[in-house]
Amino acid sequence: MSPQEVLTMCRERDVKAIDFRFMDFPGLWQHFTIPAGKLDEAVFEDGLGFDGSSIRGWQAINESDMLLVPEPSSAWIDPFTKLSTLCMICNVQDPITREDYSRDPRNVARKAANYLKSTGVADTCFIGPEAEFFIFDDVRFDQTPSQGFYSIDSVEAEWNRGADERPNLGHKLRHKEGYFPCPPADQLMDIRNEMMQLMIESGLDVECQHHEVATAGQAEIDLKYDEMVAMGDHMCKYKYIVKNVAHRHNKTVTFMPKPLFSDNGSGMHTHISFWKNGEPLFAGNGYAGLSDEALFAIGGILKHAPALLAFTNPTTNSYKRLVPGYEAPVNLAYSQRNRSASCRIPMYSPSPKAKRIEFRCPDPSSNPYLAFSALMMAALDGIQNKTHPGEPLDKDIYDLSPEELAEVPKTPGSLSESLDALAADHEFLLRGDVFTEDVINTWIEYKQKNEVEAINLRPHPYEFCLYYDI
Ligand code: GLN
Ligand code: MG
Ligand code: MG
Ligand code: MG
Repeated sequence: MSPQEVLTMCRERDVKAIDFRFMDFPGLWQHFTIPAGKLDEAVFEDGLGFDGSSIRGWQAINESDMLLVPEPSSAWIDPFTKLSTLCMICNVQDPITREDYSRDPRNVARKAANYLKSTGVADTCFIGPEAEFFIFDDVRFDQTPSQGFYSIDSVEAEWNRGADERPNLGHKLRHKEGYFPCPPADQLMDIRNEMMQLMIESGLDVECQHHEVATAGQAEIDLKYDEMVAMGDHMCKYKYIVKNVAHRHNKTVTFMPKPLFSDNGSGMHTHISFWKNGEPLFAGNGYAGLSDEALFAIGGILKHAPALLAFTNPTTNSYKRLVPGYEAPVNLAYSQRNRSASCRIPMYSPSPKAKRIEFRCPDPSSNPYLAFSALMMAALDGIQNKTHPGEPLDKDIYDLSPEELAEVPKTPGSLSESLDALAADHEFLLRGDVFTEDVINTWIEYKQKNEVEAINLRPHPYEFCLYYDI
């Protein structure tokens, strides 16, 4: 769509408001709105100014004037607003130099896609994420400090809650059996259908939706794979639609990876493949029908995984998901069969076009632009350096003897560990100026100070249960 076509769409759809969307540094979609009458072709050229100083992880207050330049091709009508509103995804620029802003996550993904082309290895990186999330009742309005969250009894009950320990107050679905009996056991069918339908109407290509394993309202909606920048954009819209449909029903959605003790967490398994001149590069005659490029890509992903997880699993909560027993990977290994390996090669289809790597570590608390870019750069580094991935692990990793298991490298145990790994290993991300030193340093500092330390400094609810009466 050209700027002219956007203006025509505004007239035809009687649009009254134009909403400008962009991603902040940690990964939350931001917006501001102008009256439709203020949109003209000049806005597409000159952009719109805004104050970047209050955006998390961005400019200092003394250099805070920034520009948003909308992508006309991204225009769509917001399905939630009362007033007819057209939205556009924007790129962020410096108003003086007109350079793209290096801490704009979308810019990182655009540079990553361009860098891939410039290497000659491939011209396209396709990404297919399987985001999972929880739908909970919205308790924001009836929760008071004296009930629920803050009482020692309920904290203790909640944190000790195991499969068989819940009070028998009526019929309950069995623990970890949400995947996937029909309604009425599945109580989220209608809400997921509504999400799916609005995604389709907003231009997303949905493959399927289903209940996930956790009993308490876990869902998954999968999009068809797409080019990496486009998929970053799609995931912004995806979360927006999911959260707003839930809100309509007095529910709330969380993409935090491990909201419930003792039940499955939410991952965002990410499928990746490289293509050149319309041909898939990952199909071949090697293990699991993979090409050498694909095996080297796995080598790169596994080699850089500890650092990579600082972007694909970027919250303190991420590491509460990466533990044994909940279908989340804990071992840095690859396999065609085994869902306990962090790189799986799906065998659903014999078609070379379907050949891809499923990296199972990522979770939906990640900033999709940064996570997809970092994953692509690790795979590319493996191909360029012919990094051998070692032998596949086709046994059930959870069944290995302690000696065998000790041989298998592990995912980092905490955000702090993966930030340290990123500090020590980020050359592969700097190539082509994709992630700058400034982006890496700002990320590490932001996460360390605002998340790792913020959590470490606070008394944990379960500490009251352990120590209150000591
Ligand atoms: N929820 C699981 C995870 O944390 C995945 C479950 C599945 O899709 N098989 O990765
Ligand atoms: Mg899935
Ligand atoms: Mg799943
Ligand atoms: Mg999967």
